[in-house]
Amino acid sequence: MLKIENLQASIDNKLILKGLNLEVKAGEVHAIMGPNGAGKSTLANIIAGKDDYEISSGTIELNGEDLSELAPEERAHNGVFLSFQYPVEIPGVSVTNFIKTAINQTRKAKGLEDMPAKEMLKMIREKSELLEIDRKFLSRSLNEGFSGGEKKRNEIFQMAMLEPKLAILDETDSGLDIDALRIVANGVNKLKSKDNAVIVITHYQRLLEYIVPDFVHVLYDGKIVKTGDASLALELEAKGYDWIKEELVQ
Ligand code: ADP
Ligand code: MG
Ligand code: MG
Repeated sequence: MLKIENLQASIDNKLILKGLNLEVKAGEVHAIMGPNGAGKSTLANIIAGKDDYEISSGTIELNGEDLSELAPEERAHNGVFLSFQYPVEIPGVSVTNFIKTAINQTRKAKGLEDMPAKEMLKMIREKSELLEIDRKFLSRSLNEGFSGGEKKRNEIFQMAMLEPKLAILDETDSGLDIDALRIVANGVNKLKSKDNAVIVITHYQRLLEYIVPDFVHVLYDGKIVKTGDASLALELEAKGYDWIKEELVQ
């Protein structure tokens, strides 16, 4: 699904990713953890195609296709979803209408007709029930006055509707209360299938009590320096990141 080799990337001439390797296969959930400033969000943004970054070496492939040649919209159309993609407030455009447009744009890019209204409604009904999102929420203006939890809910609803091949959730853990954690976890666990993959970026182990990852990676100083199973997250929670630093020096 996703294959990143020796990725080096900088922003404003500052090298952030320093030779990062990562392979994610269909059906897998990967967690990326690491201290503040390690480059986690940079990695997510680069996969999604945000253009503030200079890639000086390495490759990023999605299903064998070179991603670096594609614009962010094209990546989205190819099934890459990054949370916080649409943080803007759009008064007068409802949660539902926004997602309808997003879905039809993706279809259009693939040369397909708009999704028939009936099918769209059915999908909205199914996904919103699955995620326990109520009707009232769906008709609210996008992000207008949304609480942190509501923003999460909207984001996970978008993810569920778009059915991405590769979903990347960059959690700014700070704002996440227990309800928001459950919303995110619920969405991820329901999206999971043998055909798609999820990367959960998190600073804390908390979220991983609800989403059990197949692999946990430590991103440290621009590289993935350690990979393990879910137990690595517990170890990091208990011991912090200093021991990793010490291991690296040896
Ligand atoms: P993380 O998500 O792991 O906390 P980030 O990827 O956000 O880390 O940041 C990695 C490093 O890149 C940090 O040192 C940060 O200060 C720097 N950085 C991120 N964005 C910018 C930017 N727009 N301009 C300059 N430096 C940046
Ligand atoms: Mg950070
Ligand atoms: Mg970050």
